[in-house]
Amino acid sequence: MRKWFGINTGVKTHLRITMKNHKKPTIFSLSSAPGRAGVSVFRISGPEAANVLQKITRRDELTPRHVRVRKIYNNNNELIDSCLLFYMPGPKSFTGEDVVELHVHGSVAVIEKLTTALYGFGLRQAEAGEFTRRAFENGKIDLTEAEGLADLIDAETESQHKQAVRQMDGGLRVIYEGWKQHLLNALAQIEGEIDFPDEEDVPDNLSNKALPYLNLVLEGTEQILKTAEAGEAIRHGLDIVIIGRPNSGKSTILNAILKRDAAIVSSIAGTTRDIISVNIVLSGIPVRLSDTAGIRNTSNEIEAEGIDRALKLSKQADIVIHVIDITDNKTIENIDKRISKDDIIVYNKNDTSKSMDIPKRNEHSNEIRISALKDHDIDRLKEMLEKIISHKYNIGNEPTLTRVRHKNCVSDVFLSTTRAINCLNKSPELAGDDIRSALYALEELAGASDIESVFDLIFSRFCIGK
Ligand code: GDP
Repeated sequence: MRKWFGINTGVKTHLRITMKNHKKPTIFSLSSAPGRAGVSVFRISGPEAANVLQKITRRDELTPRHVRVRKIYNNNNELIDSCLLFYMPGPKSFTGEDVVELHVHGSVAVIEKLTTALYGFGLRQAEAGEFTRRAFENGKIDLTEAEGLADLIDAETESQHKQAVRQMDGGLRVIYEGWKQHLLNALAQIEGEIDFPDEEDVPDNLSNKALPYLNLVLEGTEQILKTAEAGEAIRHGLDIVIIGRPNSGKSTILNAILKRDAAIVSSIAGTTRDIISVNIVLSGIPVRLSDTAGIRNTSNEIEAEGIDRALKLSKQADIVIHVIDITDNKTIENIDKRISKDDIIVYNKNDTSKSMDIPKRNEHSNEIRISALKDHDIDRLKEMLEKIISHKYNIGNEPTLTRVRHKNCVSDVFLSTTRAINCLNKSPELAGDDIRSALYALEELAGASDIESVFDLIFSRFCIGK
């Protein structure tokens, strides 16, 4: 196991120990979107930021945290623009370093000229996510907050925004810091008993003193682990797949939900041979809705491949819409086996008179009769979908786990704490080791490990300038 740096070592202090402590180059970047705009924002961060500010404005003044209107010049004293700027000396800045922001006119020529000028002052262009990475390395934010920020920048829907902003604001950090304190309290009790054993009442004392802290961690981790599925679904979006026999009306349903023609509708069976996916938002969650090839026995190789893909996709889907043509008696037979709790059975072509008897299903309530062709009850189908989604993926107001990384760390905390509780009375030393493992898992969650490849992966997904 990796060395533990003493029980009183805070995550951020520990971070600083593990980070390489050398003078970083000063970086700059266009932090707003490239191209013509009302305003473009440049950001500079690093030890030379103040110096460059003085050179670019040709003034000695440095007024921290005040907005100024100043003319800016390049190395050859050519006027680049008149801009709004401000200077935020470290450590009270986003990156923790000296930071300068320049709000220039959003012209392609100004952006070009300012970029060249900043190179001319010896600065280096920032890599994707480098500002945020510096904020993290300087202990301004932990890894979960950095991830929240990345998600906020990518957020497209209301639920993604809600989840991301909460994480960026330290929602997860506050929770795991609470667990950390409980674990440290429990550990202190155990170490006290090991160092000053009172032969008579060690087991009782430990149960009384350490157990309540460990139980709090157990309850907390168990509770938040339940949010992992919803958290990840909100971040990535959901997959809803429409399957059924050829000609049951799958493409017509997709088009009716979208209120436009995305999929080809034809009475010739086997028309949809590959998967057609569209992106929509339901209950504030991004959804990829896919129409698939009709399921039937076929000797046509291309159609068979399409059917194979449809079946694979439906197995991975979050929700499957099984379409049954109520004029077709063959469809009812095998469907029950493939239906899971959140799936929907849609009986289509309800406008026809050839309507069949629909078998009663006791456990499955998500059933609906519609006519996709006549647009009857499509809105009810949508409502049914939204109800299932908001019930299954309801994130409420508490922070959620949004990545597999979080889930793995919190599961480790849960398992180590469970082990600690189980051996608390029999072997306090082993219980102490388990608590240290739980604390280590918390450090991993905060990003206080030196696994460069994990950081590279997380920060490289930011855009340039963030
Ligand atoms: P898919 O192969 O399952 O995608 O089925 P399509 O959406 O291509 O539809 C097959 C045929 O059924 C087309 O001729 C549609 O117009 C027709 N159809 C689809 N939905 C309905 C419906 O609700 N009522 C009736 N009467 N016909 C429908």
